[in-house]
Amino acid sequence: MNTSTAAAVELNADLHCHSTASDGTLAQEVLVKRAKDNGVQLWALTDHDEIAGLDLAHQTAQDLGLPFVNGVEISVSFAGVTVHIVGLGFDRRNPDLVAGLAATRGGRAQRARDMAAELAKVGIHNAYEGALKYVGNPDLISRTHFARHIVDIGMARDTHDVFRKYLADNKPGFVPHKWAGLGNAVKWITGAGGVAVIAHPARYGLSPTAEYALFSEFKTHGGLAVEVVTGSHSEAEYIKYADTAREFGLMASRGSDFHSPTESRIDLGTLPNLPKGSTPVWSVLKPLSA
Ligand code: AMP
Ligand code: MN
Ligand code: MN
Ligand code: MN
Repeated sequence: MNTSTAAAVELNADLHCHSTASDGTLAQEVLVKRAKDNGVQLWALTDHDEIAGLDLAHQTAQDLGLPFVNGVEISVSFAGVTVHIVGLGFDRRNPDLVAGLAATRGGRAQRARDMAAELAKVGIHNAYEGALKYVGNPDLISRTHFARHIVDIGMARDTHDVFRKYLADNKPGFVPHKWAGLGNAVKWITGAGGVAVIAHPARYGLSPTAEYALFSEFKTHGGLAVEVVTGSHSEAEYIKYADTAREFGLMASRGSDFHSPTESRIDLGTLPNLPKGSTPVWSVLKPLSA
């Protein structure tokens, strides 16, 4: 395994974003072009629980000469909290990974119907049909699609406002859901030759004890990296999680978590570099095209 170099830390890698195969608003070929135009030097598409966009993303990235690695963001239930695990650089045809992701997607349709029933109780009717209008992939209906519909009918200012009012944990439209196990998600990724990464750790609101448990169990299962620089982290959190990565012997990743030009605060390829002294996850990633 290669170790960190100053040049590697400065690479404009963007290893987290979403297309219409999950809850992004841009098609794969549009995203690739945007990444290239924004100066991204190493790119991964990481749709939620879904790899259907990777073929086209890879092909278009290759046409534009943009180094590309396969990616996915797996929904996991850990100690009563939903945690996201990003997988990078795996074989997208691996049968266990393909089956694991299909199983993880499986409960989304019923969950969406349950969410619509809860939203109806607070006066938002036909939300399932409304959300479907925003769905690019019938297998992958997410809270984001509901949020876009609720903004459209004027019940909230923007998608963030929808989550605050209706869709975040304990809000009227929230339906608890059991996602993949942490060990399974990490195993699907590593079993397919990929690297598992804890996505945006600051987002989970974990106590120091719960966070320690997440990082230790993740490492025990074979997880290798953590997102340090990502769209929803503050500068203080970049430093905090660069330190945490070092303490746990994990590599550091960087990704915008870009979903949409009108909804996302951070565009593809525009985040600051990883803090100096980080070991970038791209030390061990081999692009499919260079
Ligand atoms: P789901 O996988 O269906 O539970 O949806 C999760 C997605 O909802 C995340 O990946 C984000 O895209 C979006 N999301 C979660 N919390 C918020 C928030 N506070 N504001 C805007 N989008 C959010
Ligand atoms: Mn999302
Ligand atoms: Mn996420
Ligand atoms: Mn994401």
